[in-house]
Amino acid sequence: MALVSSTPLLQAAKEGGYCIGAFNVHTLEMLQAVVEAAEETRSPLIIQSTVGTVKHLGPDYIAAAATVAANRSSVPIALHLDHCSDFGTIMQCIRAGYTSVMIDASHDPFEKNVEQTRKVVEAASAVGVNVEAELGRVGGVEDDIVVDERDALLADPDECAKFVELTGVHTLAPAIGTAHGIYKGDPNIDFDRIGRIAAKVSVPLVLHGGSGIPEDQVRRAVSLGMSKMNVATELRIVFSDAIKEVFAKNPEENDPRKYMVPAKQALKAAAIEKMRLCGSIGKA
Ligand SMILES: [Zn+2]
Repeated sequence: MALVSSTPLLQAAKEGGYCIGAFNVHTLEMLQAVVEAAEETRSPLIIQSTVGTVKHLGPDYIAAAATVAANRSSVPIALHLDHCSDFGTIMQCIRAGYTSVMIDASHDPFEKNVEQTRKVVEAASAVGVNVEAELGRVGGVEDDIVVDERDALLADPDECAKFVELTGVHTLAPAIGTAHGIYKGDPNIDFDRIGRIAAKVSVPLVLHGGSGIPEDQVRRAVSLGMSKMNVATELRIVFSDAIKEVFAKNPEENDPRKYMVPAKQALKAAAIEKMRLCGSIGKA
């Protein structure tokens, strides 16, 4: 099938009480690995790329590869643009074939965030593309967007409801205490806040910073209403570590068709593990 919008996938997840893993990929092998994981487990899939990866590979290359994967696949696959604050880049990705985009204007005041999000919703909705927005501040680092963890503000439930109503956004990423990158200690997730937001907001909620959240905490976040979980850093580390291991054993290795194989396998296994935590296995 063709690439699908993430809207129906996430609505089904919300109704079914499970979550869909959204995995950031940076190479063709990484993309293939998460697709194989989804196929093998009959799990719906959201493939993501950051703006950095869009600049690195080109949105057309990424969309073309994801389209081939979706056409060959029997599970539904969406292609999502992660954290983007630039309207032009968002439009470029939609034209290239992305079926889901995130406008991240969370660093702006509420009214400006509403204004920018609404502009993207208007443009994207016309072509059936899902729009995700962020409210509050997710801590940590995501490409060139840096938020001091201490200044990270959590999302207010009433503001979330107002934001969704004013923007018509399809999915919302409220800051609830998770951070990007790898946690130094345990993540400090405000579970009570997830529940309060989910009670006031009708659209699917997105959990950012899914790398290294302990199993029981992922399950709890999902049970409280998180329908999408973004995982980036952890997968990048798993993939790179497997390549490092090949070169540690055999420094003379020079064939990407060989040293990428264990990396693909390791990434696929890590993605399957996340799908299991999310409860999306068998839901395709
Ligand atoms: Zn994020």
